[in-house]
Amino acid sequence: MEDILNQISKVKRDKLGTEIPILIFRVLRHYTHVYASDLLGERASNILFINAGRALGEQLGERLYDEDLNKYLKKISDFVEEEKIGILKISHIDESKLVVQLDECITCAGMDNIGKRICFFEVGLVAGLVEKYLGRKVIAHETKCNANGEGTCEVTVNF
Ligand SMILES: [Zn+2]
Repeated sequence: MEDILNQISKVKRDKLGTEIPILIFRVLRHYTHVYASDLLGERASNILFINAGRALGEQLGERLYDEDLNKYLKKISDFVEEEKIGILKISHIDESKLVVQLDECITCAGMDNIGKRICFFEVGLVAGLVEKYLGRKVIAHETKCNANGEGTCEVTVNF
């Protein structure tokens, strides 16, 4: 997996640079989900996106790791904002769970209510980051989504 991230990180676009309009990202993201759902079923497609997010989360977690949890979370939220994935805020944390809010989510911010939560990549990303810190698997769900009319994107991780 590390190889994939290394390979795709290398960009040579002297004139156009590394940024793309969000619509292009969303076309790739949403159409891939739709077609993967047609081929594999919606649940499998969701898992595919969760696993992709988790792979990034694990590698990112390795890069940003800090045994001080607050410093680790700060580095993560800085990265998430710098990379324009969203604005990450910790809504709640205790021994049993972590709840994070992802405002201006790259995938769902501004979308109409389509009656479902769709940010599986983000769920996997958060899960992978937490798993790297804890050194074990966790269960994560999207508990609010703009695409479900809930005004923000929120991921809940149960330890
Ligand atoms: Zn969302």
